[in-house]
Amino acid sequence: MTRFYSFSDNSSHNRGMPVIYKIAEGMIDPGPCPRCGIDGREPSGDLKVVLPKQRGKAWPDAMACGGYPLLVVSERFVKAMQECGIRLELGGKITFTGPCPRGLSLDEAPQYFWVDGRRHFAGRMDFEASGYVDVRFCEECGYRSDNVAETHRRREGPPPLPYVFEYDASRGHDLFTTDLSPTAFFATDRVLECARKHRLINLRFTPVEAGDASWSKGIDYLGKRWPPYHPLRRSEGRTLEEWVALLRKPKKRYEAKCAILDLGPEAAPAVPTLISMLEDEDLGLRRTAARLLKGLGKMGVPLGPKGQAAAREFEEWFQQTLGRPATPAEEEHNS
Ligand SMILES: [Zn+2]
Repeated sequence: MTRFYSFSDNSSHNRGMPVIYKIAEGMIDPGPCPRCGIDGREPSGDLKVVLPKQRGKAWPDAMACGGYPLLVVSERFVKAMQECGIRLELGGKITFTGPCPRGLSLDEAPQYFWVDGRRHFAGRMDFEASGYVDVRFCEECGYRSDNVAETHRRREGPPPLPYVFEYDASRGHDLFTTDLSPTAFFATDRVLECARKHRLINLRFTPVEAGDASWSKGIDYLGKRWPPYHPLRRSEGRTLEEWVALLRKPKKRYEAKCAILDLGPEAAPAVPTLISMLEDEDLGLRRTAARLLKGLGKMGVPLGPKGQAAAREFEEWFQQTLGRPATPAEEEHNS
């Protein structure tokens, strides 16, 4: 059975990979859509881009692009995919203008190309099952919109929702896009195996069943373990008791906190232990326990009077340190 992965560069988890920070030439701008008002900027043909001067470690096989979500791949990537019989529809060449990242030489840079996701279409999303709320397509330009905040809330869970789509194999794309977006790529295991075989670097694969999995570094496709293992949930691999015990280890605290929040209502049995941690001499642990109580309370876990008071105090403390009401994003980060 074919397995599917979300696919992109991995620069947000790999340090020292140069990131395109500006497209200087090659974007066409027909202006905003008269119907939905969305910015209609699109890449066309060869692009001239600017790299930052920050230190770079290596030329990656997939390079992140700020400003516009392009899939930019190296010549090595293109050759590897060709050799593995994986179709690529290239939109054009990428040339660099301006500075080069420190530690790297432009003379040694491979040729880069951008992949045209509009010509990689091979799937239809089940938006309902994938947790997208109020999905609409503009009748004029085709742009897809949704209720971003609600969609985020539904997709993040707990439990996080998977990407569910119908894959049309007859289109012949192993690297493909769907009606979600022409810039959101998915891949079959043939692409994953090709990346491993050719030792391509800076690629990110996560199982579609794991949803966005923004916490994950992606599958270790260059590692020894094969077939690879990738958790579908952040809390996978340990019991609630084990996660709660790890809260006492400062180096593991963040990971444990995220895992407990991922368990959501399933973490209810940990409430008494979290309350007892409110008396601990370690300030960091006290604060994390209070933060967890607040988060679990918001998910409907009964906290009891002590837990509720701690959650409220945490909220007040957090507002005070901010000096203003929290934005929804900050609120979420701290819930
Ligand atoms: Zn439109």
